[in-house]
Amino acid sequence: MSNKLVFVLNCGSSSLKFALIDSQSQQQILSGLADSLGSAQPFLQVKYQGEKRKTALAPQATHALAISELVNQLSELALGQHIIAIGHRVVHGGERFTQSVLINDEVMAQMEQVSDLAPLHNPANIVGIKACQKVFTDLPQVAVFDTAFHQSMPARAYLYPLPYALYKEHGIRRYGFHGTSHFYITSEAAKVLNKPVEDLNIISAHLGNGASITAIKNGKSVDTSMGLTPLEGLVMGTRCGDIDPAIPTFLMDQLGYSEQQVTNTLNKEGGLLGLSQLSNDCRVIEENAAQGHVGAQLALDVFCYRLAKYIASYTVPLGRLDALVFTGGIGENSDTIRAKVLAQLTIFGFSVDHSANKAARFGQSGQITHEDGPKALVIPTNEELVIAQDAIRITNNLEQ
Ligand code: AMP
Repeated sequence: MSNKLVFVLNCGSSSLKFALIDSQSQQQILSGLADSLGSAQPFLQVKYQGEKRKTALAPQATHALAISELVNQLSELALGQHIIAIGHRVVHGGERFTQSVLINDEVMAQMEQVSDLAPLHNPANIVGIKACQKVFTDLPQVAVFDTAFHQSMPARAYLYPLPYALYKEHGIRRYGFHGTSHFYITSEAAKVLNKPVEDLNIISAHLGNGASITAIKNGKSVDTSMGLTPLEGLVMGTRCGDIDPAIPTFLMDQLGYSEQQVTNTLNKEGGLLGLSQLSNDCRVIEENAAQGHVGAQLALDVFCYRLAKYIASYTVPLGRLDALVFTGGIGENSDTIRAKVLAQLTIFGFSVDHSANKAARFGQSGQITHEDGPKALVIPTNEELVIAQDAIRITNNLEQ
């Protein structure tokens, strides 16, 4: 281990995930999470050198309390003093942030403004930044935005067919998310395919609990499935993705749902969970589908059919496709879903190499199609590494 570490933080509303990345070897040397913050039984879990250590936090513990307990543990492990920079995942950067930035008072004020666009996400990110500013008083902090990679989209991809003033005056447009992951996949695919990034045309399918797909032309995002918020697009664990926009008002007017119930239904009760009436966890869905559970089979069918339709539509902006890439917990591990999706794309000539498809899991990259058709690849994503790299790059620029 070198003595220059980057602390990477990803704050959610009641949780925070973190990692320590060695700035030289780029290896993750510690990771963990604090969960159930603000509830009766919050806890902190740290994974280091193959061991997991779980600590109960005080009831109702805040993000700030979890971070200060974590800082104590990092000191005990003699790691805290080696941290040279902090990288924060920030969900929404609006149109203001097209790349990662060093956090200062002005940036904080701009992030607060952008928060109106992501009230479910950005406030938690800001809480995390403020908590770190209190404990890591002397360290540079960098914000890395999920939306930044997608700022290259043309207007025809990011505009909704709504009154133009809603975009101009209120910023209502497609922003796209998972940008750090799609960016990482682009650079890794360029290496695998031995092509310059600027000449690379791929479709990147990030399939996890949240899922999004991006068309990448000449190394840049030209279209993506998530929109103003991370609710649009593919079927996800509990998020519904694309639905008729009249459904929310139908639920309110005809079924008496409150605004909060609609938000919950679309964000927390839809997707794989809603369709299967079983679980949001793809492994559970697959196991049950294999045993004949009708809801689980339906959930898989809808998930794969909609994903295949998106893949087909993203050949439109690309013209030439160098590879389709699967990533995220599902994309990296589920040979069943990959095969089911590719089977619906035979019109493009995809032909699955079933033994390669079965072998590409648990962190293994690989090509899962035969050479005589278009390529489909599996590449494990690494958002923490991108955040750490940006934090190092911006910190190094400061020193020069
Ligand atoms: P992520 O949000 O990227 O961590 O991905 C979480 C999703 O990946 C969950 O739905 C998991 O069930 C799914 N997943 C993880 N491992 C597997 C696996 N071996 N087979 C199928 N799905 C998996």
